[in-house]
Amino acid sequence: MEPANSLAFLRKNIKSFPHIQADHFESKGRGFRARKFIPSGTVVLHEDPIVSALLDDHIDRRCSNPTCWKPKTELDEKAFLRCSICRYAFYCSKHCQHSHWKAHKFGCKCAQRMAAAIQKPPTPSILMMAEIWRRSELAQESQKLVVKCPEFPLFRDLNSHWDAFSEQQRHEYIGMACSVFYFMFAPDVKSSNSNDDEKKMNDIKPLETKLDVNCVARWFARFSCNNFSIFDSELRPFGAGVFPLTAVFNHSCDPNCVLMFSNPDRPNRCYVRSSRPIAKGEELTIGYVELGCPTSIRRAELRKGYFFECECPRCSNDADELDAVWETLRCPSGNCSAVIPSTYDLDGLCPTCGTDLSEHNIDITLEKVARLRNQGDEARSSGQLLQAKTLFEKAYAALELVRHANDPSVYTLLNSLAMTCVDLQLFDEAFTYHEAELPFLDFVHSEHAPALGLQLLLHGKLACYLGHISRALHLYRRAHIILCETHGKFHPLIEELAQKIGECQAELMQNSGPAGREELLAIHS
Ligand SMILES: [Zn+2]
Ligand SMILES: [Zn+2]
Ligand SMILES: [Zn+2]
Ligand SMILES: [Zn+2]
Repeated sequence: MEPANSLAFLRKNIKSFPHIQADHFESKGRGFRARKFIPSGTVVLHEDPIVSALLDDHIDRRCSNPTCWKPKTELDEKAFLRCSICRYAFYCSKHCQHSHWKAHKFGCKCAQRMAAAIQKPPTPSILMMAEIWRRSELAQESQKLVVKCPEFPLFRDLNSHWDAFSEQQRHEYIGMACSVFYFMFAPDVKSSNSNDDEKKMNDIKPLETKLDVNCVARWFARFSCNNFSIFDSELRPFGAGVFPLTAVFNHSCDPNCVLMFSNPDRPNRCYVRSSRPIAKGEELTIGYVELGCPTSIRRAELRKGYFFECECPRCSNDADELDAVWETLRCPSGNCSAVIPSTYDLDGLCPTCGTDLSEHNIDITLEKVARLRNQGDEARSSGQLLQAKTLFEKAYAALELVRHANDPSVYTLLNSLAMTCVDLQLFDEAFTYHEAELPFLDFVHSEHAPALGLQLLLHGKLACYLGHISRALHLYRRAHIILCETHGKFHPLIEELAQKIGECQAELMQNSGPAGREELLAIHS
């Protein structure tokens, strides 16, 4: 149940974003719609997280100050400072350490206790929940709630789906709440030879909680359905955070907005941009799950993680092209275009041309492919790249005969092959395999997907390196169109792309005769 005043409160909080309007949507609850026409690539909302944390394996690779989160490079490896109390926070400068201390000290204590008890740092979600707990205490403690903790009510207003979780899941959340409680409020074990750091620690007044564990367990549930993964401009995740305004966007499998962390100076600030022109009054949507997969998979993910049955236009379309070819087989007769479902009786006849499938040993081929792939993966991870390449090639040759060209297993195999070739510096072959991947990428991704833009950029670089300049130019231009919308026109990637496009054009101008030059000028204008 959403509190009755949550819509009014939400409206107050989005006043500075002129393109969006908060509204109530039948069967979905709160959401946003376009207050006016929105051109493609417009930032409709940006937000800093109320809490955020680095993923475990990134803790020692970035500055712990969330407004900095500067990645550690080899150059500043030595200059990074480590919190001497908890040992789980790292800073790029004294300034960052100092400005983070006020926020860090409770997490620091929590981490120190946890390390003493189980020799492990708290997980990002424990840290974030401890921080939310602390803020809620601040909110309760003070009548001037708005001043002390303005964001907390926004978090409280998000849906927890508590009743939709299984009994077991609820017990797990209660267990997590207990551990947060323990690490925040357990009495200190005073050490006899206290040094300066411990004195600093003892200056922190212990909190007295007014909340009970059941309440915090519900917050965990709310947290788990409303936190976002934080990723870099190449879509590699490195953190997580709670963005209570962004969490109000509803989901669509064909969304008109895209969420990115595209500000290199503020790695944890999220930006929601329109990925196509949006008419006044239209609902604004983002994608909660991986969208390049068939309806059954998307809907199952949404049901499991977000407790709703997706009724978006794409899910309601019975003729979704992706659904038709996902995990399907091709007819082995060669000149028949039948798409055969994996569940089809392989001892029967092709439904289109009547070829006797039993004569073609399709399941034996599939088993062989799976075996070769596994061996290839093992060889690759143990550094035997040439052997991996041979195994993948054999698997691909066999798979091509039985799988539909747009089946994801063909794509992932092509990708493994291309990556192995890059590792072996066999760039010509890598280029060929990447070229073969592109139709699949175009097929599964919408034309606005950042993942597609990044792949085009990467492939463009390979084409350029190999001297396929006009191909590179084409790929760069496509990447430019997509990434301008997803990353914004001023992102460093866009600058890089613009420069590469310029270089390709210059090279083509130089190397082509007058006719080619005219053609190029025509394209350019
Ligand atoms: Zn820093
Ligand atoms: Zn610390
Ligand atoms: Zn859908
Ligand atoms: Zn056939």
